[in-house]
Amino acid sequence: LARFPFDSLLDFKAGTLRAGAAAPEVQKVTRRLSDLRDAFRDQAAVERLLAEGDPLLYEVYNVPVPEEGGELQHCTSIIQPGVVGEEFFMTAGHFHTQLATAEIYLCLRGQGILLMQEQAGNATALEMYPGVVSYIPPERAHRSVNTGMEPLVLFCVYPGDAGHDYGTLRKKGFARLVLRDGAGYRLASNPSYG
Ligand code: MN
Repeated sequence: LARFPFDSLLDFKAGTLRAGAAAPEVQKVTRRLSDLRDAFRDQAAVERLLAEGDPLLYEVYNVPVPEEGGELQHCTSIIQPGVVGEEFFMTAGHFHTQLATAEIYLCLRGQGILLMQEQAGNATALEMYPGVVSYIPPERAHRSVNTGMEPLVLFCVYPGDAGHDYGTLRKKGFARLVLRDGAGYRLASNPSYG
């Protein structure tokens, strides 16, 4: 990947990113329920939804830049509305491989919860809605949860060499669940955490 100035075009409503002139091709990642089947608590609901057609959970549009210190990775995430049992659609969540790297989210559309968690398990939840800039300090796992009725669209910026560690959370899970509660949400302790 060459170092040269470029721009990308962000559709605030759809959340899609596409390459501007001289920009590297934007990479799109798609995650369906079958990709995250173990992440949800209600496994009977997982099986029902998979039998009905494996719903789309989220997409990430990533602008490829060098994975080096001094660079800034940037992407959008589009998380669909919906529930698995009582648990809202969400991203897999990750630590950064370089633990001492932070991240910024800017919410452009929808409403949701940004779940964060230290390695020792201490969890924090911040609300996201259009205009909210969320700061994820170093050494926090992070997961985005759509608690609304429309797509949750986020723009993200993080250090070039941060990297992604999905394995730690896949093994331990998140200490908090975000569950539907009437027209809103509630946070609950995850009985199978750890
Ligand atoms: Mn991250």
